[in-house]
Amino acid sequence: MKKTRPILTCLFLSAFANTVFSNTVLAKDVPFAIAIHGGAGTIQKERFTPEKEAAYRAKLKESVEAGYVILEKGGTSLDALSTAINILENSPFFNAGKGAVYTHDETHEMDASIMDGKNRQAGAVAGVKHIENPINLARLVMDKSVHVMLSGAGAETFAQSQGMALVDNHVFDTDDRYKSLLRAKAKMEKAKQEDKDYQAAHFALETEYKVGTVGAVALDKFGNIAAGTSTGGMTNKRYGRIGDAPVIGAGTFADNASCAVSATGHGEYFIRYNVAADICARVQYQGKSIEQAGKEVIHDVLMPIGGTGGVIIIDTQGNISLPFNTKGMYRASKSNSQATYVGIFKDD
Ligand code: ASP
Repeated sequence: MKKTRPILTCLFLSAFANTVFSNTVLAKDVPFAIAIHGGAGTIQKERFTPEKEAAYRAKLKESVEAGYVILEKGGTSLDALSTAINILENSPFFNAGKGAVYTHDETHEMDASIMDGKNRQAGAVAGVKHIENPINLARLVMDKSVHVMLSGAGAETFAQSQGMALVDNHVFDTDDRYKSLLRAKAKMEKAKQEDKDYQAAHFALETEYKVGTVGAVALDKFGNIAAGTSTGGMTNKRYGRIGDAPVIGAGTFADNASCAVSATGHGEYFIRYNVAADICARVQYQGKSIEQAGKEVIHDVLMPIGGTGGVIIIDTQGNISLPFNTKGMYRASKSNSQATYVGIFKDD
């Protein structure tokens, strides 16, 4: 009996060492990653002072790194992307939450959605006016309701039933967005005098009035991907207009079998071309890489028809692609094998 003890101890120690070793290898090899965007559009270097550019870059970095820390600690892709999006929603720099654009009636109406690639569960809210962080309400719709999309006052009643406080619509006011509304109205008024109707005048507005959404996609250590998008929509929007951001398949999509996508751009095109789902369908059914599929949809499908914007894409291997067909897109990414990347302009 006594003689066997050292042998057993050795066996035990070696098994223990093997477990520790293989866990270490596993932890190091399991990919995890996150990418975020803060909108695509007419984003040109000459419009930025060095201070303004630095402030935008710092906010994008803060957001992507906050999401990354959650993944690093073993948190889920859903938690990571929500945390990253909350930081962008709380910043006046982006068209979501604080900083959301103004409607024609000088209010703010926000849309958001979230999707879990593990099981294709999804939640979305449209046209909410009193929700500080719309992505969190989209998450509640996914987790706590039997529905996928809730809108307007009904969505806010649901929020209250879940213990979420409503905030005054003026919380989202910012001077810059108000000036944008006045400029958009003046341009549309001019177009009206040239005999253009509302539709034609709105169509003629430059893309800077039509974009600026925020979003995130993430892959966690469990191999699950997820996507989320949050927006104030389009400046001077009217008649309860809803964009692509809350539409699953258009502005947001996630499925572990293919990829996770969050979009920003001229929502009407993204809805009509089912952009996020189309990218993932190309990955799943045509065996394309996310880079190839994203390039095809953003540059070959949308660009020729005037559908301006971009997407962020991630797959279960932790590959990231950030294609856009506009002058710039606020974006950032970080993975266990890639240091923080922050980009604003085309050649960043
Ligand atoms: N896609 C958003 C919308 O059409 C706008 C944006 O991306 O900024 O509502």
